Amino acid sequence: MKESRITPEKQNLCPLCRVPLPDGASFCPHCARSIKPWTRQKAPKPLQKKFLHIAALVTALVTALAVIASCA
Ligand SMILES: [Zn+2]
Repeated sequence: MKESRITPEKQNLCPLCRVPLPDGASFCPHCARSIKPWTRQKAPKPLQKKFLHIAALVTALVTALAVIASCA
């Protein structure tokens, strides 16, 4: 069987030996190199969540100020 083209974007490949990795693999079965969890486990991003929270708060504050300004 010939491998005509390698599509690294489509399939998870080991960055070290370019072996296709099984879905959700945390390490390469060929060279045992640990792979970053791709889709199974998403690293928690508290910073971004906090930022979104602040952004929502600011938006609400601005909206409230606009309402107050329009009433005055
Ligand atoms: Zn590997």
